[in-house]
Amino acid sequence: MSTQAATEEHTVVIGLEVHVQLETDTKIFCGCSTEPEDDEDPNTRTCPTCLGLPGALPVLNEAAVEAAVKVGKAIDADIPQTTTFHRKNYYYPDLPKNFQLTQYDAPICQSGELELRVDSEPRTIGITRAHLEEDPGSLQHAGGSIESATHTLVNYNRAGTPLMEIVTEPDFRSPAETRAFLAKLEEVLEYLGVFDPTRDGSLRVDANVSLVPESDVADDGTITGDALEAVNRAEVKNISSHKGAEQALAYEITRQENVLRRGREIEQETRHWDEGRGVTVSMRSKEAEKDYRYFREADLPALEVSDWKEQIPIPELPDARRERFREEYGLDRESASKLTSTKAVADFFEDVAEAFDPDLAATWVADNLLGELNYREMAITDVEDRLDEFTRLVELVADDELTVKNAEEVVLREMLDAGEDPETVIDREGLGVADSGEVEAAVAAAIDDNPDAVSDYHGGDEGAINFLVGQVMQETGGSADPGQVNGLLRERLDG
Ligand code: ADP
Ligand code: MG
Ligand code: ZN
Repeated sequence: MSTQAATEEHTVVIGLEVHVQLETDTKIFCGCSTEPEDDEDPNTRTCPTCLGLPGALPVLNEAAVEAAVKVGKAIDADIPQTTTFHRKNYYYPDLPKNFQLTQYDAPICQSGELELRVDSEPRTIGITRAHLEEDPGSLQHAGGSIESATHTLVNYNRAGTPLMEIVTEPDFRSPAETRAFLAKLEEVLEYLGVFDPTRDGSLRVDANVSLVPESDVADDGTITGDALEAVNRAEVKNISSHKGAEQALAYEITRQENVLRRGREIEQETRHWDEGRGVTVSMRSKEAEKDYRYFREADLPALEVSDWKEQIPIPELPDARRERFREEYGLDRESASKLTSTKAVADFFEDVAEAFDPDLAATWVADNLLGELNYREMAITDVEDRLDEFTRLVELVADDELTVKNAEEVVLREMLDAGEDPETVIDREGLGVADSGEVEAAVAAAIDDNPDAVSDYHGGDEGAINFLVGQVMQETGGSADPGQVNGLLRERLDG
C-alpha cells in the first residue's frame, strides 16, 4: 500500500454494500414466516433449518429468486445462465450454522447500474453485483452498546429472512451522492413491490470510503482500478438509514483527512458506526476474502435462471412514469415528481385522473390529499381503499355543490380524522352550497346591519368590503363562494 503524502489534495471515493430485506411470505431456505407477530417471543419463529440444526436441509424460496430477478431487470443487470449458492464461513453468535448461505462467483445479478439525479445533475452509479443471501439472527446487547454490555441475547426470528446485497462500484464522490442513491434505490424497490421501507432494519448499509490522491484522478474524474486498489479504505458497518449513511461518511472523511494531515497512514479496517455518539469506531482489521473459506453449498443445486428474465414482468419504473405523467397529463416537473414518489401514490392519482381534468386531479391528490396525509403522518396506503369517497369529494367541488374552501378545510380533514365519507360530513356540518336566494338575503342583511362599513366603503376604504364579505360568509355558514359574494356586494353598493 502506498503512503499518501500528507500535503496532497485528495478526492473522496465511496462504494456501498446495501442489504435489503426482500418482501416474501416465508424465509429464503425454510417455510417460517418472515412477518413478525406483534410482541412475538424471541426464537419462536424458527425451525430446524433456520436454527441450523444438524441434518436440516435448505429449500430455496422461488419468490425470493423472482424478487431478485425483478431487481436485476430494474438495474439493467446481466442475469447469468445459472446461479449458485456458497457457504461463507465465519463464527458469530447470530449465525447458528457458523456459515451464511450466500452467493459468491455466480451471483444472480451482475454489472447493472442505477441512474439518479444529484442537485439536478444526472449521475449513473455502477452496480457491480447483487446477490441473494440469508439474514442472520439479531443480537441484543444487554446494557446498551456492544462495548459496555454485560451479556448479549440472541434471537433467531430474523434468521433466514431473504436479503439482497447490492454492491456498487466505488463511483460516489460525496456523502450526498450516497443519500440520493439510497433514496432512488428504495423508490425502485418499492415500485417493484419487493421491499417494505417501513419495516425496521429492512435496509442496512456498509459504506467503504477512501481518500484517493488527486494525482490519480483523471481530468474526467475517472480513477483507475490500480489507484483504487492502492489506497487503504475503511468499511463502515451498522448504518441503518439514508441520513445515517450521510452522517457516518461525513464523520469518516473528516477522520481520515485528520489522519493524513498528521502524516499518518489510513488503516485498511472495518469500523462501526455508533449512531448515538455520531462517531465511527475501529472494530477489526478488515478480513480478506480467503478468510471466509467460501465453498459451494452442496445441498442446493445450481439454478437455471437465464430465461426467468423474460418470464417475470416488472411494472413501469419511477423515471419512466414521471416522464409519462408529464407528457400524458401535462404536469410540471414538481407535480410529476410528487405524484410518482411511490407506486401507490401514482396509482391513486391515475385512478382519480380518469374521472377528472388532470390539473384538478393533480391539485387534489398532490397538494390537498398528500399535504393532509403528511400532516397526519399517514400514507396513501392508509386511504387507497377509499378512492371512491375521495373521487366523490372532488366531484362535489367540480359540480359546484361544495365550495373549495369547505372541501379542503372541513370535509377532507374530517374524512381523514373521523373516517367518515364526504356526504356524512357535509350533512353534519350543513355545508351544502348556499342557494342564490340565501346568498342575496345575506348580502342585503350585511349591508343593512353595517352602515359604518358601508360608508367606509363609499369613502374609499377597500378593507371595508372584506369585512362585509366576512359577515356574509358567517351568515351562510361558509357555504357561499367568497368571490361571488364580493361581486354581489359591489354591485349593490356601487349601483
Ligand atoms: P471486499 O470484498 O473487501 O468487501 P470489494 O472489492 O468487494 O471488497 O468492494 C467492496 C466495496 O468497496 C464496493 O462497494 C466497492 O465499490 C468499494 N470500494 C472498492 N475500492 C474502494 C476505494 N478505493 N474506496 C472506497 N470504496 C471502495
Ligand atoms: Mg464486503
Ligand atoms: Zn425456519
